[in-house]
Amino acid sequence: ALSKHAAKIRLDSVKAEEERTRDKADRATTEQVLDQRTRMILLQMINRGIVSEVHGTISTGKEANVYHAVLQADDGPAVQRAIKVYKTSIMVFKDRERYIAGEYRFQKGYDKSNSRKMVKLWAEKEFRNMRRIYTAGIPCPEPVHLKLHVLAMSFLGDRRGWAYPRLRDAVLAGDDTDQQWRTLYVQLLGIMRRLYRVCRLVHADLSEYNVLYNEGTLYIIDVSQSVEPDHPRALEFLRMDIKNVGDFFRRKGVDTLTDRVIFDFVTS
Ligand code: ATP
Ligand code: MN
Repeated sequence: ALSKHAAKIRLDSVKAEEERTRDKADRATTEQVLDQRTRMILLQMINRGIVSEVHGTISTGKEANVYHAVLQADDGPAVQRAIKVYKTSIMVFKDRERYIAGEYRFQKGYDKSNSRKMVKLWAEKEFRNMRRIYTAGIPCPEPVHLKLHVLAMSFLGDRRGWAYPRLRDAVLAGDDTDQQWRTLYVQLLGIMRRLYRVCRLVHADLSEYNVLYNEGTLYIIDVSQSVEPDHPRALEFLRMDIKNVGDFFRRKGVDTLTDRVIFDFVTS
């Protein structure tokens, strides 16, 4: 069991670190994320033994911050976690509305005027999509815990706490990198197909920015906006995903298939 005395929360140091590195305008949104409510949720996660320490940010974005955390059980090795904290800013939801409107899964509790409810819904959407993808055996973080706008998942990175690079930043080693890029391209097409056919999901923000890379394996992340095929704009989103993936691998010198062929491969 987790010892409560050993449990530390380092939010103050996280905040101090961010304040040093961020300008004034950014600071407001940073503090908004670590508001009283968020701190309470993180403390609750510590008390429940989901994590024992919350460390610094892995990523600060406009929609969410992702923190590195560790669960140190009294017996056994430490387990690393990633905690995604969604921001409650109105700006974000203007952009996100097109994904959530038209989703029958999320009609209940849909209230545009309540940004706290919206951000909760958004986190819930990611949690459920991630669980579906994880269950299907597609490499992605394992969703561990959800409370309001805070999502705990497994950490995708090495044992020293470095997150795997995004596909965008992946550096391939060896003298057969052309072949490796081709293999990764095929791997990602297979993932898109399984996402569609097994999970009944279109990622809807798929690109080299939302795929992590390690040792020949691609991991799918950032699935809060993913929709089911019967969403009115699902196929439009799928076409965009296909285009992004094709554009990226073409830049890497891969002789890609046409978007049309991939669309048929994914959907039929
Ligand atoms: P924003 O668009 O506001 O930056 P986001 O919604 O894009 O946020 P994500 O893409 O889910 O957030 O995560 C942001 C970054 O955090 C990722 O690019 C990745 O580097 C890192 N990250 C996310 N989840 C994990 C994880 N489980 N393990 C390791 N790193 C992660
Ligand atoms: Mn992202």
